[in-house]
Amino acid sequence: MAQDTSTIYGSMVFNDKVMRDRLPKPVYRSLHETIQDGTALDEDSANAVAHAMKEWAIENGCTHYTHWFQPLTGITSEKHDAFIDPIEDGTAITSFSGKELIQGEPDASSFPSGGLRGTAEARGYTAWDPTSFAFIKDEVLCIPTAFISYTGESLDKKTPLLRSMKAVSDQAKRVLACFGCTDVPQVITTIGAEQEYFLVKLDDYSRRPDLIMCGRTLFGAHPMKGQELEEHYFGAIREVVSGFMKEVDDRLWRLGVDAKTKHNEVAPCQHELAPIFSRANVAADNNLLTMEILRETAPHHGLACLLNEKPFKGINGSGKHDNWSLAAPGLNMLNPGDDPAHNYIFLLSLAAVIQAVDDYQELLRATVASPGNDHRLGANEAPPAIVSIFLGDELTGIVKAIAEGKDAVSHANARMDLGSEILPSLDQDNTDRNRTSPFAFTGNRFEFRMPGSEINLSSPNTVINTAVAKSFNEYANRLEPAQDKEAEALAICREVFNEHRRIIFNGNGYSEEWPKEAERRGLANNTTTPDALVAYTDKKNIELMGQFDILSETEMYARYDVDMEHYAKVKNIEATCMLDMSNQIIMPAVIKYSKVVADEIIAKKAVNPALSTETEDNLLERLSEGLHDMGVKTHALHMAHEEAYGKADWPKRAHAYMELVVPAMDELRTTVDRLEELTDREYWPLPTYNDILFYV
Ligand code: ADP
Ligand code: MG
Repeated sequence: MAQDTSTIYGSMVFNDKVMRDRLPKPVYRSLHETIQDGTALDEDSANAVAHAMKEWAIENGCTHYTHWFQPLTGITSEKHDAFIDPIEDGTAITSFSGKELIQGEPDASSFPSGGLRGTAEARGYTAWDPTSFAFIKDEVLCIPTAFISYTGESLDKKTPLLRSMKAVSDQAKRVLACFGCTDVPQVITTIGAEQEYFLVKLDDYSRRPDLIMCGRTLFGAHPMKGQELEEHYFGAIREVVSGFMKEVDDRLWRLGVDAKTKHNEVAPCQHELAPIFSRANVAADNNLLTMEILRETAPHHGLACLLNEKPFKGINGSGKHDNWSLAAPGLNMLNPGDDPAHNYIFLLSLAAVIQAVDDYQELLRATVASPGNDHRLGANEAPPAIVSIFLGDELTGIVKAIAEGKDAVSHANARMDLGSEILPSLDQDNTDRNRTSPFAFTGNRFEFRMPGSEINLSSPNTVINTAVAKSFNEYANRLEPAQDKEAEALAICREVFNEHRRIIFNGNGYSEEWPKEAERRGLANNTTTPDALVAYTDKKNIELMGQFDILSETEMYARYDVDMEHYAKVKNIEATCMLDMSNQIIMPAVIKYSKVVADEIIAKKAVNPALSTETEDNLLERLSEGLHDMGVKTHALHMAHEEAYGKADWPKRAHAYMELVVPAMDELRTTVDRLEELTDREYWPLPTYNDILFYV
């Protein structure tokens, strides 16, 4: 029998309620202050928190604890330590001190640092993030932490995000204060991360080395049917998937992750999970946990979960829509309210985002650059690699009027009469949906749709927060001394809406005209990861991150290096996998089948030379040509791979992989996919797209 959700929810989390129940009052209060105001926790309190945490964890079956952190690879890392402490009489007690809670020192030499730390000085520290609750996973107490080097440089994705949340909060508070919102303790970045993924049968997955090694198919002819009927979107969820989703929900709820919405997506086998939005760092942590649970749960149901951005060619890829807003107590700064044209906090927030996204479009693009996302951005259904903002007609009208110095008028939400008495009349939203926009205003928040399904959301949000902090900083500098705040706010908006008009695009982002139009507007279109990553080394972007102490120049270059290295390594693995599959799996299979056809021709002729073997001859010829072509293309890929790998450093290698290896991979794939269509199914050694995408 299903358990009551409210009793299991958060049962594996050391949350506020557990703290209140278990901590001495003064300790609870100082921990609360730490969480609210970012003040440091004194040693005695830290010891008390650690003790309570340990007792709670042990009662819940834990034997170990770990500092759970997010190195620059984007995934999560953990090293488990037992609570055990041997004593002289040969027995042991359990212990966990405040120091162990607050700071850890994993031997960090193998984590990518982009040159921030040589292996000889492998020291890296983990530092407790008290704003993200500790939780229990697989009988281990997991403590969310930041990861920094011996010299204090950030080696992870969490540290800059936390810094950027503080920066945007500080500057937003100044703007709010100009409009009577004083005493705001903190402005919180809120994030809702919609997670898309594919589910395939474990059996098919296990028979595809490309899925196992690379998370995506490197070969595969188009299936008989694709997603053209769009019947999968919001379709009834099949039983095995429903069973999987129920277990995922249950596990996530126990971990305090508010998994709320689940549905089938457009592509066959594609699904989505959306949580309720929360504080940015918590949302990022929870999303990482969600991905882990999705992966882990799938095999319980005979399935494998694919989080790669583009597992199947010609079929929609998976994204991770990043819903972003700013919240003060009782106020969503991006809520337009009834009269957006005169809602100055809203208008300034809108201006701040427009300016931020326009000025830092390339840096924003760089934060979502990954090998998987290269195949997605600009392909089926994903937004293009060009950053632009969708506002919808109502807001665009207001923005235009303000830009032109006219009186902007808000329109009351229309009511829709559905023409039937039994149906209620509905509010019509101010904004329609535009699925083709990479950065869309969706009623009371922005939805950044470029992030790929596998990404850690910390990086894009770090950039959005910091760039918006810069906008707010400028506005506050002008508003604070101004006599007439509203007039000054309008003047600011007018300037921003005029200067940054080019970033607003309400049209179809998938159309062929848009890239041309975007080029005329001077918008960037970095279609590949190596091209996009260059933004990390751009002076303007380094200055932005330096201005608010989010990332130093060295830390920016470290990210550039790490991501270039990652790209080149992924492509190296993909090319190697492709060559192996080609030489060791596919070529032998086609050769075997060719022999069957050749034998058949000989046999027929032996029986009766007058029998027609035209079809077989023809087939054999095509197989033979295909095989020859495959040999040539495999060799070409091998040569390109060698050349790219031989380049002097990772950025050069990354560029070479993009320029030489990726096209060679595409060529080989085209040839092999054609051979798949010619070969007897019984001889084709891999599950095909038909098998994988349309299981019952
Ligand atoms: P859709 O698919 O229509 O975009 P979903 O319901 O799948 O909508 O996802 C919307 C996401 O936006 C949810 O995670 C939701 O919690 C989040 N969201 C709603 N309001 C805010 C807000 N103010 N700030 C951040 N995220 C928000
Ligand atoms: Mg959705």
